[in-house]
Amino acid sequence: MRRKTIKKWVLGITLTVITGSIVSCLGVKSQINQHLGKKTELVNTSNFKTSSGSIAIKNISALSSDCSQMLDSLTVLIKDGKIINVAKQVDITSDYTIVDGTGKYLIPGLIDTHVHLKNSKNDLLLYVANGITYVGEMTGSKRHLQWREEAKSGSLSPRIYVATRKVGSQKGIIRKIKGAFFDQPLNYTKTKKARKAVQKFKEQGFDAIKLNGTLNKEIYEAITNEAKKHNVPAIGHLSFSVGLDGLYSSGQSQLSHIEEITKNTMEDYTGIVYNTPNEYLDYLNQKSDSIAIKLKESNIIVASTISVIESVPKQNFDIENFLESIELEYENPGLIEGSKLAKGWLPGNNSYENMEIKNNPELVRKSKIFWETYVKAYYIMTKALIRNGVTITVGTDANVTGVIPGFSLHDELESLSKCGMSNSKILHAATIAPAQWMQSETGKIKIGYDADLVILEKNPLIDIKNSRTINTVIVNGKLLNRKELDSILQSVKEANNRSRKISIDKFIN
Ligand SMILES: [Zn+2]
Repeated sequence: MRRKTIKKWVLGITLTVITGSIVSCLGVKSQINQHLGKKTELVNTSNFKTSSGSIAIKNISALSSDCSQMLDSLTVLIKDGKIINVAKQVDITSDYTIVDGTGKYLIPGLIDTHVHLKNSKNDLLLYVANGITYVGEMTGSKRHLQWREEAKSGSLSPRIYVATRKVGSQKGIIRKIKGAFFDQPLNYTKTKKARKAVQKFKEQGFDAIKLNGTLNKEIYEAITNEAKKHNVPAIGHLSFSVGLDGLYSSGQSQLSHIEEITKNTMEDYTGIVYNTPNEYLDYLNQKSDSIAIKLKESNIIVASTISVIESVPKQNFDIENFLESIELEYENPGLIEGSKLAKGWLPGNNSYENMEIKNNPELVRKSKIFWETYVKAYYIMTKALIRNGVTITVGTDANVTGVIPGFSLHDELESLSKCGMSNSKILHAATIAPAQWMQSETGKIKIGYDADLVILEKNPLIDIKNSRTINTVIVNGKLLNRKELDSILQSVKEANNRSRKISIDKFIN
């Protein structure tokens, strides 16, 4: 009898613990889903009318394959998702849908090489509606591999390149848990395990291994070496333990931000940046060309992500005006609102806003100087990369706080223009350069290439802002005219509004 009672108690306690764990796990899961944007209503993509089949775009000015000029009066034929002819005189059979391109401009679909889709599937529509036909997911998971396959089999989506989550080497059980349950870096402390992980990522179908900046030298070398063996690019952040000098011969083929370079020079600079900002900028000015030359010689390419950096001081010190200046209504409300586990975008809960220094004028002053210098350093380094012909690919870091998927790419093009990049080079950095990096047959208006195209009302070679004058998008052979693009945007906006818990009305003009 006694034994039975004890058994009952043990069973009861065990059940309580298990139920409690499940409930708290569900609670945590629910919070994660909230800040990854999964709880937002999904737009039904079958509502949109796309014409597929054979398409003929007649009498249009099309961007040349080197992005240097518009070639007048061309006809472009599209069949089965591929460009099958580009010429002045073309016979068009009756099975073609004709699009009159008179007075308009044709460019390859734009590519954003640095985005974070999180669990916000409506973002795919925002990319398409903004003329972006290819994105590079830089914190990839199995979910994104699945979305990539759906895009391949014809869903309304840009093509997707999927890099792994950041791979690091930090110790600790909390990091292990975060790595297992959140989209946080995966850490390996033994070279054997790190090498095995690279093999596994390759088997799972990831397009690249994303490196974390905190990687120690030993694990960094194991990963880059193993990645090379399996012919999968090792890309991402610059490890402080390796530094710029160690980078050039490391096998890492890409830096995910220009910031990776400037941050490293700030580490090497012996002074304190906010005390001696001009001295630091002089130091960077002296070093920037030689760094750029070495990057060029080592064939290391760099994603731009300039406009997100420009936004940091705005978000930190002028959040209300900043939120009014962006297309906030299209951003997934889950991400804007955040959760108990992660900050969002709104004042008082914005991940870039440093609330701790708000009441200390001296710290605010120093922080302002630091961020002003940070942005100026970014411009100096970007100009040096442009001057020395380093391959830059356009990347935005979309869905990082303040960066709206799709719309932000056009901001990024303007930021590059501000740094003195020619419009022709900017278009190259948003089409051919990333397409080649992703080893895909897209990014050019050329026979045999994928039919990922955008028709613009105005010429972007004259003013890069004209990239926003989108008339038609063709993605994966599917054509969407302006009316459908507007209807996509409207649907995302409405789905967001229905999913919102906190009003953003005061930020919408
Ligand atoms: Zn990122």
